[in-house]
Amino acid sequence: MSGKFGLSTCKEVTHLVLQGEDRQLRMGERVKIRMHLMICKACPIFAKQVALMRKASQRWRHYAETADNPESDPGPKV
Ligand SMILES: [Zn+2]
Repeated sequence: MSGKFGLSTCKEVTHLVLQGEDRQLRMGERVKIRMHLMICKACPIFAKQVALMRKASQRWRHYAETADNPESDPGPKV
């Protein structure tokens, strides 16, 4: 915790960004991140990388699920 209202440290924000991967962030937490990303130069890059990694892993998960489930791919059956 930074202690000062409205001011969040990079450490706090990166922690929240990572928390957002596992759980739904509260409104106040999302605002904190947004506010910080506007004034920080390093954290937006970090947040972007996390978002990219999330997208990549989602695609992979989707692929793994469909490959594991033959019923989702109805092939031509006569
Ligand atoms: Zn920062």
